Amino acid sequence: MSKEKIVQCAFCLKKSDEVRMIVSGAKSSICDECIYNATQIIEQELGKYTPEDAPQSKGKFTTKFNYKPKDITAYLDQYVIGQEEAKRVLSVAIYNHYKRLNQKVSDDVEIEKSNIIMVGETGSGKTLLAKSIAKMLNVPFAIADATVFTEAGYVGEDVESILSRLLQSADYDVEQAEKGIVFIDEIDKIGRKSDNPSITRDVSGEGVQQAMLKLLEGSEVLVPPQGGRKHPDQKMVKVNTQNILFICGGAFEGIDKVIARRIQTSAIGFKSNNENSALEKDTLIQYINTMDLRSYGLIPELLGRLPVVTFLKSLDKNALRRILTEPKNALIKQYTRLFEYENIKLTITDEALDYIVEKAIEFKLGGRGLRSICELVMNDAMYELPGEKHIHEFVITYDYAKEKIEKSKFSYLKVA
Ligand code: ADP
Repeated sequence: MSKEKIVQCAFCLKKSDEVRMIVSGAKSSICDECIYNATQIIEQELGKYTPEDAPQSKGKFTTKFNYKPKDITAYLDQYVIGQEEAKRVLSVAIYNHYKRLNQKVSDDVEIEKSNIIMVGETGSGKTLLAKSIAKMLNVPFAIADATVFTEAGYVGEDVESILSRLLQSADYDVEQAEKGIVFIDEIDKIGRKSDNPSITRDVSGEGVQQAMLKLLEGSEVLVPPQGGRKHPDQKMVKVNTQNILFICGGAFEGIDKVIARRIQTSAIGFKSNNENSALEKDTLIQYINTMDLRSYGLIPELLGRLPVVTFLKSLDKNALRRILTEPKNALIKQYTRLFEYENIKLTITDEALDYIVEKAIEFKLGGRGLRSICELVMNDAMYELPGEKHIHEFVITYDYAKEKIEKSKFSYLKVA
């Protein structure tokens, strides 16, 4: 005689006839009431649950796009402090990119791709912006450093290897990878080395730019799925780059001087007072345009494929201070959570936070420096405290932070 199995909620033990609905998994079940209660707890702990926070299972990327540029900026505001101008430009570019993807084939006005180039000092948030966009859109995302690329046949990576990474991030789903986002950093470092490339082979400069151009132009590229060098016996995957959004980043050191020179000679209304000292770097950078980037040895064809140019400001004291505590996954929030796991309430005084910011400015690594400094301050405590059952509170004061930094090798770590 077959006996029907009774379905019961594993949490409250109510049976299916006592609740409205029971959801069953592989080994256990949960009722609608417990799902509701659990959601309340999650919201109390982590804030309102939004679709973009939902756990993203690899290989299942959603391509439905119903954000407006303002929504994109609002999302980025949760993770990236400041950089309003870059956020606006990126939001519009992404919005138009998805408009283009949804364009009807019959339309006789073809919208061109809006690949982006971001100029900003190291640690100002370029990678973070690109990463956050990919997270929001829930599309495959890959990062590469342009300096590792060389022309095919030379030691180094082929430019196509970036698409291997994108494929990996898409779980080898070619269709998804073809709608992904690629971030190529240090684009300023692959400039043509000399004006006359025929004198010496310029394997890491113009050759790489030409190879990149092919990707950016939107063509079918044969990609070695496992990355690395192409070799004859390897099975290749065909990837069409037409709808992949390329975002490039670079520090373009000294760009302010290039802009200053251009403005001085061409703009009406910018009267030069001896030198352009009055126009500070951050003021100048807002006038950046593609022309300025040409002086870094980037070929016009490549720049032509990166029509959207935007900039990130260097992070000042105020921005660094906000980065420590405000973003959704701010550093201090992360440390607080780590200590919470040990049942210890972590407090960091305002003076200690200001001190960390001061040191980060000395470090000259932008937001990236904050992490290293926090580690120096917290490391001893994170080593000593776990297992100390009687300690439930830990306060980091100015004196404590100063002592930890001074005893560390910080002065040797600093950028000169
Ligand atoms: P870049 O690509 O410009 O060199 P990143 O985006 O990699 O810099 O920044 C390094 C780290 O510094 C980030 O992971 C983040 O923790 C922090 N950071 C930098 N800029 C910002 C910012 N504007 N807002 C929030 N965090 C930032």
